[in-house]
Amino acid sequence: MQKDVLQSIVSPDVARVLALLPQAWFVASIEGKVVGKSDSLDTFGLIVLDQVEEEQTLALISKAHESKTALDEEIVVAATRTHPEQTLRLRVSPMNHFHALVLIEDFTEERRLDKVRRDFVANISHELKTPVGALALLAEAIQAGADDPEMVQHFSARMKSEADRLAELIASIIDLSRIQDSDVLQSTEEVEVDELVTQALDDVQLLAKDKDIEIVVGGTGNLKLWGNRQQLVSALRNLVLNAIHYSPKGNRVAIGTALLDGHVEISVVDQGIGVPQHEQERIFERFYRVDPARSRVTGGTGLGLAIVKNVCQGHGGTCSVWSEPGHGSTFTMRIPERNTAIAETNVILGDSA
Ligand code: ADP
Repeated sequence: MQKDVLQSIVSPDVARVLALLPQAWFVASIEGKVVGKSDSLDTFGLIVLDQVEEEQTLALISKAHESKTALDEEIVVAATRTHPEQTLRLRVSPMNHFHALVLIEDFTEERRLDKVRRDFVANISHELKTPVGALALLAEAIQAGADDPEMVQHFSARMKSEADRLAELIASIIDLSRIQDSDVLQSTEEVEVDELVTQALDDVQLLAKDKDIEIVVGGTGNLKLWGNRQQLVSALRNLVLNAIHYSPKGNRVAIGTALLDGHVEISVVDQGIGVPQHEQERIFERFYRVDPARSRVTGGTGLGLAIVKNVCQGHGGTCSVWSEPGHGSTFTMRIPERNTAIAETNVILGDSA
């Protein structure tokens, strides 16, 4: 019956064009009664039982009729029981005195990414300001004390450590943005987990020695997984660095490997200060620190766990934390032994490379 109404409104040619449109569309009366729609429309939840229920859409249809012109508007549809919040772009074009064609495009992901980028840039600017400000102040102090070699020595050493911090921060920002660009799909290989652990430990042994921390490795040997070696090493290294940073001198850090339900699990266990329950989700956000003052002393960038989370997600896995303040923390990277999506992409890329 709906089809009959639509046929009486649009010519067969227009109907054929509508059927070919890549985006979702529907034709509705001024009151919102839907007389024709594309198959994919239901996903947006704008229509319930052939009636447009969403207020902004209804208002736009009515406005287009009043003005007798096509309108183009982006709307944010609040989350409902069945759909999350969505950003949709609607183009509404009156078709006759009573009906309008509504074209819909989903911009939810684009807008979410825009916001993530904006927030990231704002955070980076804020984080860069501190070391750059410190460098300027230290340079002034050196100028003022130019005749005092001891002072020059002291302030130039501090300048060096601020510059190192800045370099580390910039390197982490570059790391993170590379990981977020899904590089993981471009260069994957079979990675031996034992080798991964050895590589990650290579760079942290000095720091561990400095703090008199013993690192022990155990669990299942000879495991393999399919992934981006460099990213996996960087993620594991970040976890071990944190375990050392947030443990008192003389403690022990353990790395355990296991295979569970087709997933390789790599856990880093420490007996350090721990993370309060209510902070455990937030610590994976970029630049979030439980205790910013302490993090500054350890030289942390606030990006370590964001890198770990992104690497795990990029490999189709997760990173979880168990922790009890005062008793320690266990961070576990859980990565599919063989992620089919990554493996398939690699076969295609590998064949042509
Ligand atoms: P940072 O560079 O500050 O260490 P991360 O992203 O690596 O940044 O970690 C975020 C925050 O999570 C840290 O500032 C710290 O408060 C907390 N954290 C991370 N790992 C541990 C750990 N092993 N023990 C206790 N707290 C931790």
